[in-house]
Amino acid sequence: MLPVVALVGRPNVGKSTLFNVLTRSRDALVADMPGVTRDRHYGVCRSGERSFVVVDTGGLSGVDEGIDALTAQQVRLAISEAQVLVFVVDARDGLLPQDIGILNELRRSGKPIIAAVNKTDGLDEQNALAEFASFGLAATLPLSAAHNRGTDDLIALTLPLLPVETEESVEQREDGSIRVAIVGRPNAGKSTLINRLLGEDRLIVSSVAGTTRDPIRVPLERDGKRYTLIDTAGVRRRARVEEAVEKFSVIKTLQSMAAAQVVVLMIDARENLADQDLTLIGHALDEGRALVIAINKWDGMDAYQREQCQRALERRLSFVEWAKQVFISALHGSGLRELMRAVVRAHSAATKEIGSSELTKTLERAYEGYQPPLVRGHAPKLRFAHPGGLNPPTIVIHGSRTKHIAPAYRRYLENFFRQRFKLEGTPIRIDFRDGE
Ligand code: GDP
Ligand code: GDP
Repeated sequence: MLPVVALVGRPNVGKSTLFNVLTRSRDALVADMPGVTRDRHYGVCRSGERSFVVVDTGGLSGVDEGIDALTAQQVRLAISEAQVLVFVVDARDGLLPQDIGILNELRRSGKPIIAAVNKTDGLDEQNALAEFASFGLAATLPLSAAHNRGTDDLIALTLPLLPVETEESVEQREDGSIRVAIVGRPNAGKSTLINRLLGEDRLIVSSVAGTTRDPIRVPLERDGKRYTLIDTAGVRRRARVEEAVEKFSVIKTLQSMAAAQVVVLMIDARENLADQDLTLIGHALDEGRALVIAINKWDGMDAYQREQCQRALERRLSFVEWAKQVFISALHGSGLRELMRAVVRAHSAATKEIGSSELTKTLERAYEGYQPPLVRGHAPKLRFAHPGGLNPPTIVIHGSRTKHIAPAYRRYLENFFRQRFKLEGTPIRIDFRDGE
């Protein structure tokens, strides 16, 4: 399971700036006004082989009057699900009574707390830290989120505090079944699909809104194939959860995508494609997962509506044109065989082993066909390739001046490899290395 780290602190101390740096996301909001109520943001921080969910909790003022009750509740919820709490304070404001209030709240959770003293740029770090020494927290570090300084230290302090997967749970996970996460916005039809696939209602009954700690893994056998469905919100929804809990399922969604090999994104054909759908696809790609897009509620749509829908999908999902689109009715059970076939195909593409000589031969052919544009009179050279991992298929390419290779050329190579090795349904990662 992807562990969760919550960023907590007064408004305006730099939480969303830090969030953006940790998750490298560009679309989270950074406002310069204190007290603005904001949604929480979720993202994934990746560091080498390890990653964790980062939650930006928004403002928590720490004094009882004046706290937006919902915000406070959301923060408590984040605290309750996080394994590590990063308490962000502002070196320029110094220690304020509200900080003490927040720290007391955090301490009640009994979870490890790291104090991140932000905005130390241009200040004397030791002085800045001294002011917060009275917290008595062993892990206190200086930070400048805006200048991306100290964030590596923060990650280095955080990682050892997070639970690591035991060998036993890895074995349990890798049982030879195809791990599938079914994700999508509320009401897309996730629980209807899961129930359809399972052919019974046992899942719904076990739903306890947002409280289950471990993801629900449901074994499924169909047409001789074994799957493990990793639940997201699909199981939980029936209790008609209130807003906070509904939003909170974002964490579960991120976790289940990380735990899966194949992500099925469900879209309601009767709704316009929303930004959230694209964000979910973005996360699935960041995670390197194979992807199948299930367009649900295809029943009862007339020819005109179907055509409109297909056009919109073609236009907006062109960046993942390798992902199979399957039109289904979870309610009536139509299209499910095709859906599961697409899942199997995406899975085998994502886990297909390709040898170094084949990769190098294909690289040579791609390079002959079209060479990367010159950089100051020199062309980047690509020499040989070897496999670097599966799910997603990763191709390591050795050469020189590879950092000058433009995104368009990278895409050209991706497509070339994709076609040559029929890697339908999975993203491909290309890892350029200079030298040797
Ligand atoms: P949040 O309300 O805690 O999420 O705070 P924001 O991330 O929105 O930041 C509040 C303000 O502090 C913004 O104007 C940021 O540009 C600024 N800020 C954030 N981090 C730093 C930093 O490391 N140094 C300085 N000087 N300013 C920062
Ligand atoms: P979830 O929030 O993604 O788990 O969505 P649900 O499975 O709870 O479905 C939301 C609503 O859409 C329910 O009223 C379902 O009966 C309805 N629904 C789900 N699948 C279909 C479908 O294929 N066709 C139609 N017409 N309605 C569907």
